[in-house]
Order: sequence, then structure tokens, then C-alpha cells
Amino acid sequence: MKIVAKQRLRQKVVVLGGGYAGMMAALRLAPYARVTLVDPSDRFTERVRLHELAAGRPEVSHSRAQMLRGTGIEHLAARATALDPAARAVHTDCGRTLLYDRLVYALGSHTDPRGAAPGATPAATAGPTPTAWGRAFTAESAPALHKRLLDGPGALAVVGGGLTGIEMAAELAESHPEWEVRLLTGGEIGGGLSARGRAHVRTVLDRLHVRVEEGRRIADADSVDADAVVWTTALRATDGLARDAGLDTDPPPCLKGTGVPPSGRIRVDAALRSVSHPDIYVAGDAAAARAPRAGALRMACATALPTGAHAAGAIIAESRGAEPEPLSFGFFVQCVSLGRHDGLIQPVRADDTPRERVLTGRPAARVKEQVVRSTVRFLKLAARRPDAIRLIPGVG
Ligand SMILES: Cc1cc2nc3c(=O)[nH]c(=O)nc-3n(C[C@H](O)[C@H](O)[C@H](O)COP(=O)(O)OP(=O)(O)OC[C@H]3O[C@@H](n4cnc5c(N)ncnc54)[C@H](O)[C@@H]3O)c2cc1C
Repeated sequence: MKIVAKQRLRQKVVVLGGGYAGMMAALRLAPYARVTLVDPSDRFTERVRLHELAAGRPEVSHSRAQMLRGTGIEHLAARATALDPAARAVHTDCGRTLLYDRLVYALGSHTDPRGAAPGATPAATAGPTPTAWGRAFTAESAPALHKRLLDGPGALAVVGGGLTGIEMAAELAESHPEWEVRLLTGGEIGGGLSARGRAHVRTVLDRLHVRVEEGRRIADADSVDADAVVWTTALRATDGLARDAGLDTDPPPCLKGTGVPPSGRIRVDAALRSVSHPDIYVAGDAAAARAPRAGALRMACATALPTGAHAAGAIIAESRGAEPEPLSFGFFVQCVSLGRHDGLIQPVRADDTPRERVLTGRPAARVKEQVVRSTVRFLKLAARRPDAIRLIPGVG
């Protein structure tokens, strides 16, 4: 009888999106709330390994049922189709409508496809099937890209000199040496790295026969002369639901119409509540979050886990009548894989600016692999010990 009464008192939390942020939020909340996790897939995908999937790694996902076993979290294998903040309801494509006391919006991001396919809509890569457009691919269409690589050698152009583009070019050049790989970027490669870090990236790309072309502003994949193009330039938050429901998204109203490119991220306060709808918490790539030491958080797994954990902690605090704490986070390192045998560990200050010392070579590749494995370990640990958030690097 007492247990039933306690169950009734526990608030209903719906978590949208089962990536790093959503899984972390759901697992941390499970002992304190009735949690429903909405994500169409029964597998948790390690998105930071998608370039490995494109290169031929057979599996980068884990059974969601196993990860959630024993936690009491209900997984609804469906896509959220609409949000009704006034009714505190989420509609899904399986016909179920979920009512919530608090919502965690963690729908992540995807490569903005408009460069890969002129005329595509930002929602195009967020559909149920990862899309490829003729000879243009993105990280989300990694399985199709792998198939294309196996179909026969030719010229491959990776567009975008950020960390995803660098990892993609190195991985594909190493795993498919029969392809001629180029890396094209408008600025210089690895713009956020230290001089030593950039130098190491260049050395490895050179060793892998990747031709780097800097200062190349590419309008879209159609204008690239190659048999296959991998578009890695801009990430865009999965924001359709939020915009349709009237949530404030980035850029703020004062900058709308000024040409500042929208990231689609939802504007949040220091505790990660939507500024326009405070009963909605936002975590991971979907949140335009800031922290005093870090400044604006970039889209990263490194920020998705802590913001997922923080959103959950804030909801728990609120349910106890306390004011949620502001997010406390500082960056400390960037980890870059350069194929399976080399890498770059770039220490950074709390605000993500690079320090000059770096770790390179096989030791760096081993550290990067351990860091990637640790993300899944953190989630598994959070299922057993939800307060393990303190162990997440950069938190506090
Ligand atoms: C190739 C590659 C390499 C990367 N490497 C690194 C790295 O080394 N380090 C790093 O920090 N970051 C890295 N990143 C970035 C990192 O993967 C993302 O920042 C991170 O995945 C964001 O986590 P998230 O939980 O916010 O969103 P996501 O991981 O995008 O998860 C969102 C979830 O929401 C679900 N979803 C979407 N729409 C709906 C809907 N309508 N209804 C229900 N569910 C929905 C999706 O299926 C998905 O499961 C990399 C990204 C890529 C592509």
C-alpha cells in the first residue's frame, strides 16, 4: 500500500532522445521518478564511432534493453512527433500520447544536410532511415558510405576541417588505401587545436596520403569533383519539435534575420530549463547551454553526458522543493582519433582553448579508445549508481 502511494507521489518524467544525454538523464532520474524514454531505436548508438562504422567496424551500438535492465525505465520505441507544452503532452508516431510533469528534451543533432544536398531540409537526416544523396554522405549515413567504399575505388572528398572531418578522413584513408582521399576546408584544418596539435594532424594525414586543401570554401557537394563526398561541416540541433511548439531557439530573437546562422539549439537558463518553457529541461546538443568556467558549450559527447546528468539532478532537486543548482562544467581535453594506430590528445583550458602540450602517436590512440569506452561505462555505472555523476570528467 505504502509503495503504491509512493509511486503516485513520484513525478512523471518523459525523456526525449536516447543518445548520450537522454540515456544519462533517464538513468540518473530512475530511482526518483517514473521515467519514460522515447527513442525509435532498441539500440544505443555510440555516435562518436560513426566514422569507424563508415570504415568497416561491424558494430557501434548496444542493446538498450540490456542497458536499462533493472532500472524501472520504460523505453517507448517510437519517434516523438509533436510537443504540446500547454497540455504537458508528447505525441508519438506509435499513436501513444505521453503526459509529463517534467520533460527532458535530448534529441541531439545531425549534420546539416543542405550542403550535402542542395534543397534538402534540415530535418532530412533526422528521419528514421539515415539518408545518402547520390554520391554525398554524412556521418549519419555511415553504413551507406561503407557500402560505397566497398563498391570500388575512386576519389573521395571529405568536406570540413573540424575534428569530425579530420577523424573521418584519417579513418577512411587508413582503412581504404585504394581510395584517393582529400580533405577540403574553408579555413585551416583543426582550427581549435594548438600549433603542435595541428602539426601532428598534418603529419599523420600526410602519412596516410590524405591531400589537404585549405582555403577552399565549398558551397555544396555538387560543386566537388569526386566519386564520393562526405559532408561534415555544420551540426544542427534536431529542433523541429521545439520550434513547432514555440520554444525559444538559437539565435535569440534580437539576432533573428541578421544572417547569424541558426544552430537550432534551445535557449536555456543556468540550470538547463528552457527559457520560454521552464518545465522543459534541455540536455546535450539540443541545448544552447553555458557554464561560468566554460562559456558556451560546444556540441559534444563530452558535454552531453554532464548536461544529461545535470538536467536530471535539477529535476530531482526541484521535486524536493529546492532551487536547482546552475551547471558547473569546464572542458579539460579534446581527444582525436587519427585512424586506429595514431591520435591526438589535446589538453585544453576550462574554456576549451588549447594548451601547447599534446600527446600523440599510439599512446594517444590508446587513450582516445579508453575515453570512448568510458562513455558507455559511465552510462552502465549510472544504471547501478545514479550518483556516479561526480566521476564524469569536467563536472563540478
Ligand atoms: C563521427 C563523429 C565523431 C564524433 N566524435 C566526438 C568525440 O570524439 N568527442 C565528443 O565529445 N563528441 C564527438 N562527436 C559529437 C557527439 O557524437 C555528439 O555531440 C553527441 O552524440 C550528442 O549527444 P546527444 O545525446 O545530445 O545527441 P545524440 O547522440 O544525437 O542522440 C539523440 C537521440 O535522439 C533520438 N531522436 C532524434 N529524433 C527523435 C525523435 N523525434 N523522437 C525520439 N527520439 C529521437 C536519436 O535517435 C538519438 O538516439 C562526434 C560526432 C560524430 C558524428
